[in-house]
Amino acid sequence: MHFPNSSDRALRVFGYAHQFLREHNIHWLPINPEDIINMHSNWTLKYVHQLADEIKVTERHVLDHVMRSQDGLSMYDVKADKYDILINAADDKSPGRILWTKLHEIGHIYLGHLQDNHLTQIVEDELPQELYDQMEFEADMFAGEVLASKWLMRSLDIYDEKAITTICGISDTAAHNRYIKATEDYDFVPANAILTQARFSEYCKEITVCMNKDDMLVAELAVQNPPRAKYVKPKAKFLRRSGECPYCGGRHSIGANFCPYCGTALKSYQKDAKSEPCGNRQDANAAFCEQCGRPVFRTRQGFCFEECEI
Ligand SMILES: [Zn+2]
Ligand SMILES: [Zn+2]
Ligand SMILES: [Zn+2]
Repeated sequence: MHFPNSSDRALRVFGYAHQFLREHNIHWLPINPEDIINMHSNWTLKYVHQLADEIKVTERHVLDHVMRSQDGLSMYDVKADKYDILINAADDKSPGRILWTKLHEIGHIYLGHLQDNHLTQIVEDELPQELYDQMEFEADMFAGEVLASKWLMRSLDIYDEKAITTICGISDTAAHNRYIKATEDYDFVPANAILTQARFSEYCKEITVCMNKDDMLVAELAVQNPPRAKYVKPKAKFLRRSGECPYCGGRHSIGANFCPYCGTALKSYQKDAKSEPCGNRQDANAAFCEQCGRPVFRTRQGFCFEECEI
């Protein structure tokens, strides 16, 4: 294996990370590594206790002699062309850290580290230091770009690293530090990042939602639109058009109970907003919930909803 300079390497890994997102049809966060692994008939995810059961040894033995104090290990069975992704999910490993480790190991496989170098596993003691360090750097960079693409974060207007790691599910100090380290050096904008941004358009879409701020994933990123000013007098009955608020002229849906722009009750029997939010999702410019009249928060669709709810 030759050692291209670090920015060539970064660019190559970056390209692979975006190709990976595309090939696995990923367009929502956080990334689910189990779904990805299941797409490959020759990839298997195993936890330490499962391997211990399989080869009839203790978990301690697997940790000491197979994992060798690593969080994860990918193993390649050359003859069968099969990969095992072994993960240490001990109680002291947070979900954020385990998520990072899974993508790091997937990175080793996807970047061809095992196959190209004719390796059955990647263990520091068994490899030249330079090769080991390079593969670790690449796997970390891959994990960072797949789990929390900087270009995706830019299209979400998120620059705060804490918010990034919360949204992407890697909010563990160790994973967070590896994320920062893996992504600190690159400042290029390759074309495939634009394609990734387009694929995540539903996730990134701005909407307003009727919910409590405390229940939001990243409450600091939610804002409120100012209410629209009301006319001095409501429009006369004969001038009113259906779907238009007589108090401010804002458009609302036919079944609306309240005007989404000025918040006025549109039905005579419904005067006050409800005390609990109803979960309704509306246009990005609304200030009030059409259904229950409460003030709504402007945020991104992906911050409040699962992909299956869209
Ligand atoms: Zn590694
Ligand atoms: Zn109105
Ligand atoms: Zn509501």
